Amino acid sequence: MLTLSSPIDQLIRLKEDIKIGLKKLGIHTVEDLLYHFPSRYADESQYVSIQGLAEGATVTVRGTIKKISAKKSWKTKTAMSEAIIEDVSGTLPVVWFNQPYLANMLHVGNTIELTGKVSVYKDKLAMVNPSTREEKALPIDSHDSLFGSDEHATLTPVYPETKGVSSLWIHHAVSRALSLIENMPDHLPASVLEQYSLPSLKTALIWVHGPKTKDDAIVARKRFAFDEIFSINLARQKERLEIKEQIAYSIQDVDTNDFISRLGFPLTDAQKKSIDHILQDMTKDVPMSRLLEGDVGSGKTAVAAVAAYATVMNRPGVEKKQTFGSLQVAYMAPTEILATQHFESFIDLFRHTGISIALITGSGCKKFPSKVASNKDNWTNISRAQLSKWIANGEIPIVIGTHALIQKSLTFKHLALAIIDEQHRFGLNQRKGLAKKDSHFPHLLSMTATPIPRTLALTIYGDLDISLLDQLPAGRKQVDTVLVMPDKREEVYENIRTILQQGRQAYVICPRINESDKDTARALQMKNVVTEAKRLQEKVFPEFRVGILHSKMTKEKKEEAMEEFVNHEIDILVATSVVEVGVNVPNATAIIIEGAERFGLSQLHQLRGRVQRSSHQPYCYLFADAKSERTQERMKLFTSAKNGFELAEYDLQLRGSGELTGTDQWGVSDIGMEALRNLKLVEAARQAAITLITEDPLLVKHTVLNSRIKKYEKMHFE
Ligand code: ADP
Ligand code: MG
Repeated sequence: MLTLSSPIDQLIRLKEDIKIGLKKLGIHTVEDLLYHFPSRYADESQYVSIQGLAEGATVTVRGTIKKISAKKSWKTKTAMSEAIIEDVSGTLPVVWFNQPYLANMLHVGNTIELTGKVSVYKDKLAMVNPSTREEKALPIDSHDSLFGSDEHATLTPVYPETKGVSSLWIHHAVSRALSLIENMPDHLPASVLEQYSLPSLKTALIWVHGPKTKDDAIVARKRFAFDEIFSINLARQKERLEIKEQIAYSIQDVDTNDFISRLGFPLTDAQKKSIDHILQDMTKDVPMSRLLEGDVGSGKTAVAAVAAYATVMNRPGVEKKQTFGSLQVAYMAPTEILATQHFESFIDLFRHTGISIALITGSGCKKFPSKVASNKDNWTNISRAQLSKWIANGEIPIVIGTHALIQKSLTFKHLALAIIDEQHRFGLNQRKGLAKKDSHFPHLLSMTATPIPRTLALTIYGDLDISLLDQLPAGRKQVDTVLVMPDKREEVYENIRTILQQGRQAYVICPRINESDKDTARALQMKNVVTEAKRLQEKVFPEFRVGILHSKMTKEKKEEAMEEFVNHEIDILVATSVVEVGVNVPNATAIIIEGAERFGLSQLHQLRGRVQRSSHQPYCYLFADAKSERTQERMKLFTSAKNGFELAEYDLQLRGSGELTGTDQWGVSDIGMEALRNLKLVEAARQAAITLITEDPLLVKHTVLNSRIKKYEKMHFE
């Protein structure tokens, strides 16, 4: 019997190329197929007559098949279908490479709809690999009154396709699945469907794949959007409840004034408020789950340091009046360089307290202070085995590190607080991994500079309480941001030269890594790191040292490049957007961003934040293909806006969720992301989730739903 979880080859026999194509689209089960939604619906009124076609236009044409046959191309032996299509105005050749089966599926005399770009093939205007849909109802669904059998339907779904898998094939497979699955229980509770007037699962699937009206399609999509946002919220609320049942060390109030006075600067009001939230949370024996959101440079590390200080000044077992040992703090950073930077700044901050601090990364371990008397003000290398022992017996209160921190072999004796920098999400399982079995559960302070809109935060951080650092420290200079016209490139390089001569450093950000990266004509015009670095070194800045950094370099090479930049052995770092994540090189005060129109506004803001870390005047130069009005508007917003959160909202509204930094990591689908533009829907879904989880905390009455939300429990930990 076919069910949603049946593998797709139980639905249809698959040829090799289709298998590969489906895998690429992430379609493994019948459910994956049914959740592969149309990206749009073609409307009959949008048909263009063949006579009126012009090269390069993307159009939808509707006509009858005059001729069709399968062939092998002469040169490459690629299997293909060729056809001639006719409408009242003329005829049009069409070829489909790698889709020879179309010649069998489509028949002379049938009407089809083709969507794609008009190009020149064998010296004639033609369509090459258009997405294709047969007008007539397919044999499979002709008996299904609910699906696709309406001869007058005017909306035809157009799917995201890939080689071997056309819209037509998907349409065919979907209708087959919908007619064969008998039992499709709805995982959403009936009460929820009713309260929000949502269609049932089966109806929504039928409507989304074969709507009779635009409204059907909209209502169906709304259901799936709600479904997803609701499910994520449910997973988060469930996690939240589970964590609330754990027991944490209660951190008693300690006097932090002296510690704060040694920071070397007065805290901003936002920092003070966040510290209050955190210390207040941690006095309880319920684990804190707090997210500290603040723009780059807003001073999250100082907040983390005060929280760490308060924690380690507490003894384990206050009630037992234990007078030795202290509670422990784990502070995890996404890269080795960042971990090392935190280690060094913590040494400065904690030096006067006599508290030991350790660093643990993939390449080794360090401990401060050194046991060697002559080296007491410094750190020393120690073995991992030795460090593990000291962490396990509670001798080292503060441990800073990379992912090496959460490896199984490492156990803390009295871990009270976990601080996680820039990890997007640190969920229940990761926290469990840190905590010793049968021991206290750590408080969590998660920190992020990734600006995200409120609706997204409500959803993916639904299990966390949020503190905002919406204020930069006083005296920070605004980045002088300029959209540069192409003929002013030389002037910019002269400005950069002056800045470098004053001993500062600069970043150059390119949208691509190297030449072969995505060989589309558009992409070829974009600057790439490798070529641009070579050009800058040889032609523009021969007197300075140019280095590169991009995501395809090995982890070691990346660390090495960053290290050289930190140590000022490199003057100009040419990089992709990988430099986004929190590295602190205060001496870098200028950034050039090539192809700026390619980046989301919030991402540009993150990049710009890299050069705002000192009291020197920072500069940001944008090169953009700014012909379109929209790009100009976006760049104008960017040069004027000061706040990353504001820009994230613009991104969401202006260009869609695809623009938000790190979208992939959140595991939210396109349709879910669409929904995030709708605050009302998000709040309703959240409320519905809270209501349900309050009634049924373990979801024992909603087992299908419970197993469905599993995938959101695991999501997004890089
Ligand atoms: P982020 O929030 O990006 O992690 P950091 O914690 O790295 O920012 O802080 C950036 C810089 O600002 C550091 O050099 C830090 O010492 C400094 N800083 C933090 N808070 C303040 C403050 N209230 N006043 C002045 N400088 C501050
Ligand atoms: Mg930081």
